[in-house]
Amino acid sequence: MPEHKTYIVEHLDPELGPWSALEYRAIARETAGCDGVFMLSSLPEGFQVPEELKQESAFRAETRGVEDLYPEGKGKERVCLLDPAADEDLNPDDKRDFDVFLFGGILGDDPPRDRTSELRKKGFTGRRLGPVQMTTDTAVRVTRMVVEEQYTLDMIPYLDHPELKFGEKESTEMPFRYVKGKDGKPIMPEGMVDLIKKDADKSIDDLF
Ligand code: SAM
Repeated sequence: MPEHKTYIVEHLDPELGPWSALEYRAIARETAGCDGVFMLSSLPEGFQVPEELKQESAFRAETRGVEDLYPEGKGKERVCLLDPAADEDLNPDDKRDFDVFLFGGILGDDPPRDRTSELRKKGFTGRRLGPVQMTTDTAVRVTRMVVEEQYTLDMIPYLDHPELKFGEKESTEMPFRYVKGKDGKPIMPEGMVDLIKKDADKSIDDLF
């Protein structure tokens, strides 16, 4: 059994937008902290990986898909798909049974469109992280806490659907579950609050 875990996000969206770029950089940085590997798989040939991501030591870019990387009989049984529709929740003992944790490279949507089903139908063993949709970086963070730090899901402090306030009047409710940081705020990738604010300003401008 390899000592360090691999966290894979299978690229499923046509592009890698600025939200995903920030989420993936946060995943790469935090994965380096536990000597793990963070892989973005199924990238189209010649795909331009954002420079900031390439520089992260834990990061690997991969054009093969997860089925080719871990075929039946050659590691597939050691891959766990984090799946909001799985029957069983992730628990600390899963550390023994899995080396690879697989996530859908999909931006969160509200209501969720269950695009994780694209990976579910490939037949990987699934585990749920509780009933509420998380952002991809939160899902990886929670998985790491359970697997590496041996938290049970109910020990983790969460913030559901937090409201981000910008100045006096503007605010946005985020339709996801986050881990609550020591400062009582949702843990988000560096630069994300500014990006959300910029996007909110843009949609307000579009109204006029
Ligand atoms: N709306 C989504 C969908 O279409 O499936 C969820 C996308 S979520 C932003 C990205 C990935 O994070 C999912 O594919 C899944 O691997 C993981 N994830 C998020 N919340 C989860 C939960 N409650 N349980 C298990 N996995 C979760």
